[in-house]
Amino acid sequence: MSPLLLLGGTFSPVHLGHLRMAEIASESLGVSATFLINSIPPHKEAPSVTSADRLRMLEIALQGTGFSIDTRELRRSSPSYTSETLREIRAERPHDPVIFIIGMDSFRTIGSWHEAEELPKLAGFFVIRRPGTEMPPLDESFLALHAERAENAEELLEAPAGRYFISERECLPVSSTMIREALSRGEEPELIAPGVLQYIREKGLYRR
Ligand code: ATP
Repeated sequence: MSPLLLLGGTFSPVHLGHLRMAEIASESLGVSATFLINSIPPHKEAPSVTSADRLRMLEIALQGTGFSIDTRELRRSSPSYTSETLREIRAERPHDPVIFIIGMDSFRTIGSWHEAEELPKLAGFFVIRRPGTEMPPLDESFLALHAERAENAEELLEAPAGRYFISERECLPVSSTMIREALSRGEEPELIAPGVLQYIREKGLYRR
């Protein structure tokens, strides 16, 4: 049995919060994380930020960390849904635990995702909060998914899918939005890897 630990995201740009999420989950489970980079509709991005730029920034940020990158979603011509990707991964690994690291803000709305009812059948979820945010009540659309709450992280490794664990360890107070906004104001963003910031400056990304 070989568990797969995935951190899905747009990473536009990748920041130290993403790295901390991967560290928290990897340390808790004893499994190294793989960053699953999303494709996104072209109209949602500033034209200067291509998928190639997002991928390059991710490669720079992960240098020396031991974490890896899965680019399968970038190779598709259309934006892909998490359920489709997880189904593909499940077909490759029928019995392995597949664990999706996710921020609490995203997890809260998971009941409204495409084919939400499929998600707990395909993966387990390692949930991480932003600092200062409490565990919100889970809404009915989530409860309808019938995922089972795990009290310990290790329980995620005992089943291929179907469980979620909410970590006590908080992440860093940063988002890609905060970084893009700081850059567009001409300010120095915080909580971003120096090499990634240097790449952004060199390529003139996220300027308005
Ligand atoms: P944006 O601000 O553009 O929405 P983001 O910073 O949330 O971006 P994404 O690449 O969209 O980054 O997020 C990937 C995953 O990381 C999501 O599950 C998101 O909830 C989570 N995440 C990002 N930053 C944090 C953070 N500081 N703490 C906890 N979870 C986070």
